[in-house]
Amino acid sequence: MLDLTFTAPQPKVIQGAQGDWELVIGLEVHAQVASNAKLFSGASTRFGSEPNSNVAFVDAAMPGMLPVINEFCVAQAVRTGLGLKAEINLRSAFDRKNYFYPDLPQGYQISQLYHPIVGEGEIIVDMGPGIARRVRVERIHLEQDAGKSIHDMDPTMSFVDLNRTGVALMEIVSRPDIRGPEEAAAYVVKLRQILRYLGTCDGNMQNGNLRADVNVSVCKPGDYERFQETGDFGHLGTRCEIKNMNSMRFIQAAIDYEARRQIAILEDGGSIVQETRLYDPDKGETRSMRSKEEAHDYRYFPDPDLLPLEIEQAWVDDIAASMPELPDEKKARFVRDMGLSEYDAGVLTAEVENADYFEAVASGRDGKMAANWVINELFGRLNKEGLSVATSPVSAAQLGGVIDLIASDAISGKIAKDLFEILWTEGGDPARIVEDRGMKQVTDLGAIEAAVDQIIADNPAQVEKARANPKLAGWFVGQVLKATGGKANPAAVNEMVARKLAL
Ligand code: ADP
Ligand code: MG
Repeated sequence: MLDLTFTAPQPKVIQGAQGDWELVIGLEVHAQVASNAKLFSGASTRFGSEPNSNVAFVDAAMPGMLPVINEFCVAQAVRTGLGLKAEINLRSAFDRKNYFYPDLPQGYQISQLYHPIVGEGEIIVDMGPGIARRVRVERIHLEQDAGKSIHDMDPTMSFVDLNRTGVALMEIVSRPDIRGPEEAAAYVVKLRQILRYLGTCDGNMQNGNLRADVNVSVCKPGDYERFQETGDFGHLGTRCEIKNMNSMRFIQAAIDYEARRQIAILEDGGSIVQETRLYDPDKGETRSMRSKEEAHDYRYFPDPDLLPLEIEQAWVDDIAASMPELPDEKKARFVRDMGLSEYDAGVLTAEVENADYFEAVASGRDGKMAANWVINELFGRLNKEGLSVATSPVSAAQLGGVIDLIASDAISGKIAKDLFEILWTEGGDPARIVEDRGMKQVTDLGAIEAAVDQIIADNPAQVEKARANPKLAGWFVGQVLKATGGKANPAAVNEMVARKLAL
Protein backbone atom coordinates (compact mmCIF):
# COMPACT_ATOMS: atom_id res chain seq x y z
CA MET A 1 0.00 0.00 0.00
CA LEU A 2 1.02 3.57 -0.50
CA ASP A 3 2.32 5.45 2.44
CA LEU A 4 -0.64 7.73 2.87
CA THR A 5 -1.04 10.41 5.44
CA PHE A 6 -4.58 10.35 6.71
CA THR A 7 -5.38 13.89 7.62
CA ALA A 8 -7.79 14.72 10.36
CA PRO A 9 -11.00 16.12 8.88
CA GLN A 10 -10.27 19.61 7.62
CA PRO A 11 -13.75 21.05 7.58
CA LYS A 12 -14.45 23.81 5.16
CA VAL A 13 -15.07 26.84 7.32
CA ILE A 14 -17.35 29.60 6.13
CA GLN A 15 -17.26 32.89 7.98
CA GLY A 16 -20.69 34.19 8.68
CA ALA A 17 -21.71 37.51 10.16
CA GLN A 18 -21.89 35.79 13.56
CA GLY A 19 -18.73 33.71 13.43
CA ASP A 20 -17.54 30.49 11.82
CA TRP A 21 -19.67 27.70 10.40
CA GLU A 22 -18.61 24.22 9.36
CA LEU A 23 -20.06 21.95 6.66
CA VAL A 24 -21.27 18.38 7.08
CA ILE A 25 -22.01 16.35 3.96
CA GLY A 26 -23.29 12.83 3.27
CA LEU A 27 -23.74 11.39 -0.21
CA GLU A 28 -26.20 8.89 -1.62
CA VAL A 29 -24.85 7.77 -4.98
CA HIS A 30 -27.06 5.88 -7.43
CA ALA A 31 -24.88 3.74 -9.67
CA GLN A 32 -26.44 1.80 -12.51
CA VAL A 33 -25.27 -1.80 -12.33
CA ALA A 34 -23.35 -2.81 -15.46
CA SER A 35 -25.53 -5.68 -16.66
CA ASN A 36 -27.15 -6.59 -19.99
CA ALA A 37 -30.46 -7.42 -18.31
CA LYS A 38 -32.61 -5.70 -15.69
CA LEU A 39 -32.77 -6.54 -11.98
CA PHE A 40 -35.98 -8.59 -12.10
CA SER A 41 -36.56 -9.19 -15.83
CA GLY A 42 -34.65 -10.33 -18.89
CA ALA A 43 -35.27 -7.06 -20.77
CA SER A 44 -32.23 -5.31 -22.21
CA THR A 45 -30.62 -2.30 -20.53
CA ARG A 46 -29.19 -0.88 -23.76
CA PHE A 47 -28.94 2.91 -23.66
CA GLY A 48 -30.42 4.82 -26.57
CA SER A 49 -32.87 2.12 -27.72
CA GLU A 50 -36.23 3.07 -29.24
CA PRO A 51 -38.55 4.28 -26.44
CA ASN A 52 -40.45 1.44 -24.75
CA SER A 53 -38.62 -1.26 -26.69
CA ASN A 54 -36.80 -2.76 -23.68
CA VAL A 55 -39.82 -3.51 -21.54
CA ALA A 56 -40.75 -6.97 -20.25
CA PHE A 57 -44.28 -7.61 -18.97
CA VAL A 58 -43.05 -7.47 -15.39
CA ASP A 59 -41.41 -4.06 -16.02
CA ALA A 60 -44.73 -2.77 -17.30
CA ALA A 61 -46.42 -4.25 -14.20
CA MET A 62 -48.84 -6.40 -16.14
CA PRO A 63 -51.16 -8.22 -13.74
CA GLY A 64 -49.86 -11.55 -12.50
CA MET A 65 -46.28 -10.99 -13.60
CA LEU A 66 -43.66 -11.94 -11.04
CA PRO A 67 -40.12 -10.60 -10.58
CA VAL A 68 -37.20 -13.04 -10.85
CA ILE A 69 -33.89 -11.88 -9.41
CA ASN A 70 -30.96 -11.53 -11.81
CA GLU A 71 -28.03 -13.38 -10.23
CA PHE A 72 -25.50 -11.36 -12.19
CA CYS A 73 -26.76 -8.07 -10.69
CA VAL A 74 -26.44 -9.57 -7.22
CA ALA A 75 -22.85 -10.64 -8.02
CA GLN A 76 -22.12 -7.09 -9.19
CA ALA A 77 -23.36 -5.64 -5.90
CA VAL A 78 -21.24 -8.14 -3.96
CA ARG A 79 -18.20 -7.31 -6.09
CA THR A 80 -18.79 -3.62 -5.40
CA GLY A 81 -19.06 -4.30 -1.67
CA LEU A 82 -15.80 -6.25 -1.70
CA GLY A 83 -14.15 -3.42 -3.66
CA LEU A 84 -15.18 -0.99 -0.92
CA LYS A 85 -13.84 -3.38 1.76
CA ALA A 86 -17.38 -3.73 3.04
CA GLU A 87 -19.25 -6.33 4.97
CA ILE A 88 -21.34 -8.59 2.69
CA ASN A 89 -24.68 -9.61 4.15
CA LEU A 90 -25.37 -13.24 3.28
CA ARG A 91 -29.04 -12.60 3.97
CA SER A 92 -30.77 -9.51 2.63
CA ALA A 93 -34.33 -8.75 1.64
CA PHE A 94 -36.36 -6.63 -0.77
CA ASP A 95 -38.99 -4.11 0.30
CA ARG A 96 -41.62 -2.19 -1.58
CA LYS A 97 -41.30 1.58 -1.46
CA ASN A 98 -44.74 2.82 -2.43
CA TYR A 99 -45.36 6.01 -4.34
CA PHE A 100 -47.24 7.09 -7.43
CA TYR A 101 -45.53 8.43 -10.50
CA PRO A 102 -46.50 8.01 -14.18
CA ASP A 103 -43.12 6.47 -14.99
CA LEU A 104 -43.47 3.88 -12.21
CA PRO A 105 -46.11 1.40 -13.46
CA GLN A 106 -45.95 -0.85 -10.38
CA GLY A 107 -46.83 2.01 -8.07
CA TYR A 108 -43.83 1.01 -5.98
CA GLN A 109 -40.11 0.63 -6.32
CA ILE A 110 -38.48 -2.61 -5.16
CA SER A 111 -35.61 -1.61 -2.86
CA GLN A 112 -33.83 -2.84 0.27
CA LEU A 113 -34.62 -0.68 3.29
CA TYR A 114 -34.25 -2.95 6.27
CA HIS A 115 -31.71 -5.53 5.12
CA PRO A 116 -29.31 -4.24 2.46
CA ILE A 117 -26.98 -6.63 0.68
CA VAL A 118 -23.84 -4.68 1.66
CA GLY A 119 -23.04 -3.16 5.04
CA GLU A 120 -20.29 -0.88 6.30
CA GLY A 121 -17.30 -0.16 4.03
CA GLU A 122 -14.96 2.70 3.19
CA ILE A 123 -13.55 4.83 0.42
CA ILE A 124 -10.07 6.32 0.61
CA VAL A 125 -10.47 9.76 -0.93
CA ASP A 126 -7.36 11.32 -2.47
CA MET A 127 -6.91 14.95 -1.56
CA GLY A 128 -3.51 15.54 -3.18
CA PRO A 129 -0.24 13.57 -3.32
CA GLY A 130 0.18 11.62 -0.11
CA ILE A 131 -2.93 13.08 1.50
CA ALA A 132 -6.05 11.01 1.90
CA ARG A 133 -9.31 10.99 3.81
CA ARG A 134 -11.19 7.90 4.86
CA VAL A 135 -14.93 8.23 4.25
CA ARG A 136 -17.12 5.48 5.60
CA VAL A 137 -19.82 3.89 3.49
CA GLU A 138 -22.85 3.04 5.55
CA ARG A 139 -24.53 0.56 3.20
CA ILE A 140 -25.18 -0.41 -0.39
CA HIS A 141 -28.59 -1.64 -1.42
CA LEU A 142 -29.99 -2.92 -4.69
CA GLU A 143 -33.07 -1.28 -6.14
CA GLN A 144 -34.96 -0.69 -9.38
CA ASP A 145 -34.67 2.44 -11.44
CA ALA A 146 -37.85 4.21 -12.56
CA GLY A 147 -38.78 5.10 -16.14
CA LYS A 148 -38.56 8.52 -17.71
CA SER A 149 -41.28 11.10 -18.18
CA ILE A 150 -40.76 13.31 -21.21
CA HIS A 151 -42.38 16.73 -20.97
CA ASP A 152 -40.65 18.63 -23.74
CA MET A 153 -41.80 16.82 -26.89
CA ASP A 154 -45.32 18.14 -27.13
CA PRO A 155 -46.98 21.33 -25.84
CA THR A 156 -50.01 19.55 -24.41
CA MET A 157 -48.92 15.99 -23.65
CA SER A 158 -46.30 14.18 -21.63
CA PHE A 159 -44.80 10.87 -22.70
CA VAL A 160 -43.41 7.99 -20.72
CA ASP A 161 -40.43 5.84 -21.71
CA LEU A 162 -40.18 2.65 -19.67
CA ASN A 163 -36.83 1.44 -21.03
CA ARG A 164 -35.08 2.32 -17.79
CA THR A 165 -37.85 0.92 -15.59
CA GLY A 166 -36.48 -1.95 -13.55
CA VAL A 167 -32.82 -1.43 -14.42
CA ALA A 168 -30.67 -2.37 -11.41
CA LEU A 169 -29.21 0.43 -9.33
CA MET A 170 -26.85 0.28 -6.41
CA GLU A 171 -27.49 3.00 -3.88
CA ILE A 172 -24.22 3.66 -2.11
CA VAL A 173 -24.80 5.68 1.07
CA SER A 174 -21.93 7.45 2.83
CA ARG A 175 -21.74 8.44 6.47
CA PRO A 176 -21.77 12.20 7.03
CA ASP A 177 -17.96 12.08 7.04
CA ILE A 178 -17.44 14.56 4.21
CA ARG A 179 -16.52 18.07 5.33
CA GLY A 180 -16.31 20.24 2.22
CA PRO A 181 -17.21 20.67 -1.46
CA GLU A 182 -13.81 19.53 -2.78
CA GLU A 183 -13.91 16.44 -0.61
CA ALA A 184 -17.41 15.61 -1.86
CA ALA A 185 -16.30 15.84 -5.48
CA ALA A 186 -13.13 13.84 -4.74
CA TYR A 187 -15.30 11.17 -3.08
CA VAL A 188 -17.43 10.80 -6.21
CA VAL A 189 -14.31 10.75 -8.42
CA LYS A 190 -12.80 7.94 -6.34
CA LEU A 191 -16.02 5.95 -6.10
CA ARG A 192 -16.52 6.21 -9.87
CA GLN A 193 -12.92 5.12 -10.45
CA ILE A 194 -13.33 2.04 -8.23
CA LEU A 195 -16.65 1.07 -9.87
CA ARG A 196 -15.07 1.34 -13.32
CA TYR A 197 -12.09 -0.77 -12.26
CA LEU A 198 -14.50 -3.35 -10.88
CA GLY A 199 -16.63 -3.25 -14.03
CA THR A 200 -19.77 -2.93 -11.91
CA CYS A 201 -20.89 0.48 -13.25
CA ASP A 202 -19.69 2.30 -16.35
CA GLY A 203 -19.83 5.61 -14.49
CA ASN A 204 -21.14 7.56 -17.46
CA MET A 205 -22.47 10.61 -15.67
CA GLN A 206 -23.86 12.28 -18.79
CA ASN A 207 -26.16 9.32 -19.38
CA GLY A 208 -27.17 9.42 -15.73
CA ASN A 209 -25.48 6.10 -14.92
CA LEU A 210 -23.94 7.65 -11.85
CA ARG A 211 -25.75 10.40 -9.98
CA ALA A 212 -25.44 11.72 -6.48
CA ASP A 213 -27.94 13.03 -3.95
CA VAL A 214 -25.98 15.44 -1.81
CA ASN A 215 -27.02 16.01 1.84
CA VAL A 216 -25.71 19.25 3.31
CA SER A 217 -25.96 20.79 6.77
CA VAL A 218 -24.01 23.42 8.66
CA CYS A 219 -22.98 23.52 12.31
CA LYS A 220 -20.80 25.51 14.69
CA PRO A 221 -17.18 24.49 15.44
CA GLY A 222 -17.15 21.70 18.05
CA ASP A 223 -20.61 20.37 17.18
CA TYR A 224 -19.28 17.76 14.79
CA GLU A 225 -16.83 16.43 17.39
CA ARG A 226 -19.69 16.16 19.89
CA PHE A 227 -21.69 14.25 17.25
CA GLN A 228 -18.77 11.89 16.71
CA GLU A 229 -18.36 11.23 20.43
CA THR A 230 -22.02 10.57 21.08
CA GLY A 231 -23.40 9.46 17.69
CA ASP A 232 -26.26 11.87 18.37
CA PHE A 233 -27.38 13.55 15.13
CA GLY A 234 -28.99 16.23 17.30
CA HIS A 235 -25.59 17.93 17.48
CA LEU A 236 -25.67 18.45 13.71
CA GLY A 237 -27.74 20.96 11.80
CA THR A 238 -30.85 20.05 9.83
CA ARG A 239 -29.86 18.85 6.38
CA CYS A 240 -31.18 19.51 2.91
CA GLU A 241 -30.80 17.01 0.12
CA ILE A 242 -29.85 18.17 -3.36
CA LYS A 243 -31.09 15.56 -5.84
CA ASN A 244 -29.61 13.98 -8.93
CA MET A 245 -26.27 15.72 -9.35
CA ASN A 246 -24.29 14.40 -12.30
CA SER A 247 -21.24 16.65 -12.54
CA MET A 248 -18.31 17.07 -10.15
CA ARG A 249 -18.26 20.80 -10.80
CA PHE A 250 -21.96 21.25 -10.06
CA ILE A 251 -21.67 19.14 -6.90
CA GLN A 252 -19.12 21.60 -5.54
CA ALA A 253 -21.02 24.70 -6.62
CA ALA A 254 -24.30 23.36 -5.23
CA ILE A 255 -22.79 22.53 -1.83
CA ASP A 256 -21.19 25.93 -1.55
CA TYR A 257 -24.40 27.72 -2.48
CA GLU A 258 -26.52 25.54 -0.20
CA ALA A 259 -24.25 26.01 2.83
CA ARG A 260 -24.29 29.79 2.43
CA ARG A 261 -28.07 29.77 2.00
CA GLN A 262 -28.48 27.82 5.24
CA ILE A 263 -26.05 30.06 7.14
CA ALA A 264 -27.92 33.18 6.01
CA ILE A 265 -31.23 31.73 7.26
CA LEU A 266 -29.76 30.63 10.61
CA GLU A 267 -28.02 33.94 11.21
CA ASP A 268 -31.29 35.67 10.46
CA GLY A 269 -32.89 33.74 13.32
CA GLY A 270 -34.70 31.31 11.04
CA SER A 271 -34.52 27.53 10.96
CA ILE A 272 -33.75 25.06 8.19
CA VAL A 273 -36.63 23.02 6.85
CA GLN A 274 -35.55 19.51 5.92
CA GLU A 275 -36.37 19.26 2.25
CA THR A 276 -35.34 17.98 -1.14
CA ARG A 277 -33.85 20.63 -3.41
CA LEU A 278 -32.73 20.86 -7.03
CA TYR A 279 -29.63 22.62 -8.31
CA ASP A 280 -30.07 24.98 -11.23
CA PRO A 281 -26.68 25.19 -13.00
CA ASP A 282 -27.72 28.23 -15.04
CA LYS A 283 -28.57 30.29 -11.98
CA GLY A 284 -25.99 28.61 -9.69
CA GLU A 285 -28.73 28.17 -7.06
CA THR A 286 -30.61 25.41 -5.34
CA ARG A 287 -34.38 25.61 -5.09
CA SER A 288 -36.97 23.66 -3.17
CA MET A 289 -38.46 20.66 -4.94
CA ARG A 290 -40.52 19.03 -2.21
CA SER A 291 -40.55 18.70 1.53
CA LYS A 292 -38.50 15.77 2.75
CA GLU A 293 -40.48 12.58 2.95
CA GLU A 294 -39.82 10.11 5.74
CA ALA A 295 -39.54 6.36 5.41
CA HIS A 296 -43.05 5.96 6.84
CA ASP A 297 -44.50 8.09 4.04
CA TYR A 298 -43.63 5.29 1.65
CA ARG A 299 -45.32 2.53 3.63
CA TYR A 300 -42.33 0.26 3.12
CA PHE A 301 -43.05 -3.44 3.58
CA PRO A 302 -41.26 -6.67 2.60
CA ASP A 303 -42.08 -7.54 -1.01
CA PRO A 304 -44.31 -10.64 -0.85
CA ASP A 305 -43.30 -11.61 -4.40
CA LEU A 306 -39.66 -12.09 -3.44
CA LEU A 307 -38.12 -14.43 -0.91
CA PRO A 308 -35.29 -13.08 1.23
CA LEU A 309 -32.07 -13.19 -0.72
CA GLU A 310 -29.66 -15.76 0.69
CA ILE A 311 -26.20 -16.13 -0.74
CA GLU A 312 -23.42 -18.50 0.26
CA GLN A 313 -20.04 -17.53 1.64
CA ALA A 314 -18.37 -19.84 -0.91
CA TRP A 315 -19.99 -17.85 -3.75
CA VAL A 316 -18.79 -14.59 -2.19
CA ASP A 317 -15.31 -16.13 -1.87
CA ASP A 318 -15.34 -17.02 -5.57
CA ILE A 319 -16.13 -13.42 -6.43
CA ALA A 320 -13.42 -12.24 -4.04
CA ALA A 321 -10.92 -14.52 -5.77
CA SER A 322 -11.66 -12.92 -9.15
CA MET A 323 -11.31 -9.30 -8.05
CA PRO A 324 -9.20 -7.09 -10.30
CA GLU A 325 -6.35 -4.98 -8.97
CA LEU A 326 -7.91 -1.77 -7.63
CA PRO A 327 -6.66 1.78 -8.27
CA ASP A 328 -4.86 2.28 -4.94
CA GLU A 329 -3.05 -1.03 -5.28
CA LYS A 330 -2.13 -0.37 -8.88
CA LYS A 331 -0.85 3.08 -8.05
CA ALA A 332 1.23 1.73 -5.18
CA ARG A 333 2.70 -0.95 -7.46
CA PHE A 334 3.65 1.62 -10.12
CA VAL A 335 5.46 3.68 -7.47
CA ARG A 336 7.11 0.68 -5.85
CA ASP A 337 8.09 -1.44 -8.84
CA MET A 338 8.64 1.14 -11.56
CA GLY A 339 9.98 4.02 -9.53
CA LEU A 340 7.28 6.42 -10.73
CA SER A 341 6.40 9.53 -8.77
CA GLU A 342 3.12 9.33 -6.93
CA TYR A 343 1.78 12.09 -9.12
CA ASP A 344 2.59 10.23 -12.36
CA ALA A 345 1.24 6.98 -10.95
CA GLY A 346 -1.98 8.83 -10.09
CA VAL A 347 -2.32 10.20 -13.61
CA LEU A 348 -1.70 6.78 -15.16
CA THR A 349 -4.18 4.95 -12.94
CA ALA A 350 -7.01 7.51 -13.07
CA GLU A 351 -8.79 5.49 -15.77
CA VAL A 352 -8.36 1.75 -15.98
CA GLU A 353 -7.98 1.87 -19.79
CA ASN A 354 -5.11 4.33 -19.45
CA ALA A 355 -3.41 2.12 -16.86
CA ASP A 356 -3.76 -0.91 -19.17
CA TYR A 357 -2.28 1.03 -22.07
CA PHE A 358 0.62 2.21 -19.95
CA GLU A 359 1.34 -1.29 -18.67
CA ALA A 360 1.44 -2.60 -22.22
CA VAL A 361 3.96 0.12 -23.13
CA ALA A 362 6.04 -0.36 -19.98
CA SER A 363 6.15 -4.16 -20.12
CA GLY A 364 9.80 -5.21 -20.47
CA ARG A 365 10.91 -1.56 -20.75
CA ASP A 366 12.03 1.24 -18.47
CA GLY A 367 8.97 2.30 -16.48
CA LYS A 368 9.94 5.94 -16.06
CA MET A 369 10.67 6.36 -19.73
CA ALA A 370 7.38 4.69 -20.63
CA ALA A 371 5.53 6.95 -18.15
CA ASN A 372 7.15 10.02 -19.69
CA TRP A 373 6.13 9.11 -23.20
CA VAL A 374 2.63 8.05 -22.28
CA ILE A 375 1.88 11.10 -20.13
CA ASN A 376 3.67 13.85 -22.02
CA GLU A 377 3.50 12.81 -25.66
CA LEU A 378 0.52 10.48 -25.88
CA PHE A 379 -1.93 11.91 -23.29
CA GLY A 380 -0.90 15.44 -24.24
CA ARG A 381 -1.76 14.78 -27.85
CA LEU A 382 -4.93 12.80 -27.10
CA ASN A 383 -6.21 15.63 -24.89
CA LYS A 384 -5.46 18.20 -27.52
CA GLU A 385 -7.43 16.29 -30.12
CA GLY A 386 -10.26 15.18 -27.85
CA LEU A 387 -9.38 11.49 -28.19
CA SER A 388 -8.89 8.69 -25.65
CA VAL A 389 -6.57 5.68 -25.53
CA ALA A 390 -9.41 3.64 -27.03
CA THR A 391 -9.36 5.86 -30.13
CA SER A 392 -5.63 6.61 -30.11
CA PRO A 393 -4.00 6.47 -33.55
CA VAL A 394 -0.79 5.24 -31.90
CA SER A 395 -1.06 1.81 -30.26
CA ALA A 396 0.80 0.69 -27.16
CA ALA A 397 2.90 -1.64 -29.33
CA GLN A 398 3.90 1.24 -31.61
CA LEU A 399 4.79 3.53 -28.72
CA GLY A 400 6.76 0.68 -27.14
CA GLY A 401 8.63 0.34 -30.44
CA VAL A 402 9.61 4.03 -30.31
CA ILE A 403 10.96 3.58 -26.79
CA ASP A 404 12.96 0.51 -27.85
CA LEU A 405 14.59 2.52 -30.63
CA ILE A 406 15.61 5.24 -28.16
CA ALA A 407 16.84 2.70 -25.62
CA SER A 408 19.02 0.96 -28.20
CA ASP A 409 20.47 4.33 -29.28
CA ALA A 410 19.07 3.84 -32.77
CA ILE A 411 17.36 7.24 -32.63
CA SER A 412 17.75 10.34 -30.47
CA GLY A 413 14.98 11.71 -28.30
CA LYS A 414 14.46 14.50 -30.79
CA ILE A 415 14.08 12.18 -33.77
CA ALA A 416 11.76 10.04 -31.63
CA LYS A 417 9.32 12.96 -31.53
CA ASP A 418 9.38 13.18 -35.32
CA LEU A 419 8.80 9.43 -35.44
CA PHE A 420 5.86 9.77 -33.05
CA GLU A 421 4.38 12.39 -35.36
CA ILE A 422 4.71 10.06 -38.35
CA LEU A 423 3.07 7.21 -36.42
CA TRP A 424 0.25 9.54 -35.36
CA THR A 425 -0.54 10.76 -38.84
CA GLU A 426 0.49 7.85 -41.07
CA GLY A 427 0.77 4.79 -38.82
CA GLY A 428 3.26 2.01 -39.55
CA ASP A 429 6.01 0.03 -37.89
CA PRO A 430 8.43 2.30 -35.99
CA ALA A 431 11.62 0.31 -36.75
CA ARG A 432 10.77 0.04 -40.44
CA ILE A 433 10.02 3.78 -40.72
CA VAL A 434 13.36 4.63 -39.13
CA GLU A 435 15.12 2.25 -41.52
CA ASP A 436 13.27 3.35 -44.67
CA ARG A 437 13.52 7.07 -44.04
CA GLY A 438 17.13 7.11 -42.89
CA MET A 439 16.27 8.44 -39.45
CA LYS A 440 18.87 6.35 -37.67
CA GLN A 441 21.11 8.19 -35.30
CA VAL A 442 24.70 8.60 -36.45
CA THR A 443 26.89 7.01 -33.80
CA ASP A 444 29.63 6.33 -36.30
CA LEU A 445 32.47 8.38 -34.74
CA GLY A 446 34.22 8.81 -38.09
CA ALA A 447 31.21 10.60 -39.57
CA ILE A 448 30.78 12.76 -36.48
CA GLU A 449 34.48 13.62 -36.47
CA ALA A 450 34.33 14.71 -40.10
CA ALA A 451 31.36 16.97 -39.38
CA VAL A 452 33.08 18.51 -36.34
CA ASP A 453 36.31 19.08 -38.27
CA GLN A 454 34.39 20.80 -41.03
CA ILE A 455 32.61 23.22 -38.70
CA ILE A 456 35.84 24.02 -36.86
CA ALA A 457 37.69 24.67 -40.11
CA ASP A 458 34.89 26.97 -41.33
CA ASN A 459 34.71 29.07 -38.16
CA PRO A 460 38.16 30.06 -36.86
CA ALA A 461 36.85 33.13 -35.02
CA GLN A 462 34.31 31.04 -33.09
CA VAL A 463 37.06 28.57 -32.23
CA GLU A 464 39.12 31.35 -30.58
CA LYS A 465 36.11 32.51 -28.57
CA ALA A 466 35.24 28.99 -27.44
CA ARG A 467 38.79 28.32 -26.29
CA ALA A 468 38.61 31.45 -24.15
CA ASN A 469 35.12 30.65 -22.91
CA PRO A 470 34.27 26.90 -22.96
CA LYS A 471 30.59 27.66 -22.50
CA LEU A 472 30.49 28.63 -26.15
CA ALA A 473 31.28 25.05 -27.22
CA GLY A 474 27.54 24.47 -27.30
CA TRP A 475 27.37 26.50 -30.48
CA PHE A 476 29.55 23.90 -32.25
CA VAL A 477 27.40 21.07 -30.96
CA GLY A 478 24.34 22.82 -32.34
CA GLN A 479 25.97 23.31 -35.72
CA VAL A 480 27.00 19.67 -35.98
CA LEU A 481 23.51 18.47 -35.05
CA LYS A 482 22.06 20.79 -37.67
CA ALA A 483 24.52 19.59 -40.30
CA THR A 484 23.56 15.97 -39.63
CA GLY A 485 19.81 16.64 -39.67
CA GLY A 486 19.53 16.02 -35.94
CA LYS A 487 20.66 12.45 -36.38
CA ALA A 488 24.08 12.64 -34.73
CA ASN A 489 24.20 11.17 -31.25
CA PRO A 490 24.31 14.32 -29.07
CA ALA A 491 26.52 12.75 -26.37
CA ALA A 492 29.08 11.66 -28.95
CA VAL A 493 29.04 15.12 -30.59
CA ASN A 494 29.55 16.82 -27.24
CA GLU A 495 32.55 14.70 -26.49
CA MET A 496 34.06 15.13 -29.94
CA VAL A 497 33.66 18.91 -29.90
CA ALA A 498 35.30 19.18 -26.49
CA ARG A 499 38.17 16.99 -27.65
CA LYS A 500 38.74 18.84 -30.93
CA LEU A 501 38.64 22.26 -29.27
CA ALA A 502 41.00 20.84 -26.64
CA LEU A 503 38.84 22.24 -23.86
P1 ADP B 1 -32.79 9.22 4.37
O1 ADP B 1 -32.94 7.76 4.13
O2 ADP B 1 -33.93 9.84 5.06
O3 ADP B 1 -32.36 9.95 3.14
P2 ADP B 1 -30.34 8.59 5.71
O4 ADP B 1 -30.17 8.37 7.13
O5 ADP B 1 -30.28 7.42 4.78
O6 ADP B 1 -31.64 9.41 5.46
O7 ADP B 1 -29.21 9.61 5.29
C1 ADP B 1 -29.07 10.01 4.01
C2 ADP B 1 -27.71 10.67 3.84
O8 ADP B 1 -27.68 11.88 4.57
C3 ADP B 1 -26.55 9.85 4.34
O9 ADP B 1 -25.52 9.93 3.37
C4 ADP B 1 -26.14 10.55 5.62
O10 ADP B 1 -24.75 10.46 5.83
C5 ADP B 1 -26.50 11.98 5.33
N1 ADP B 1 -26.78 12.79 6.52
C6 ADP B 1 -27.50 12.45 7.60
N2 ADP B 1 -27.55 13.47 8.47
C7 ADP B 1 -26.86 14.51 7.92
C8 ADP B 1 -26.57 15.85 8.34
N3 ADP B 1 -27.00 16.35 9.48
N4 ADP B 1 -25.82 16.61 7.50
C9 ADP B 1 -25.39 16.13 6.34
N5 ADP B 1 -25.62 14.89 5.90
C10 ADP B 1 -26.36 14.08 6.67
MG1 MG C 1 -31.82 7.74 1.84
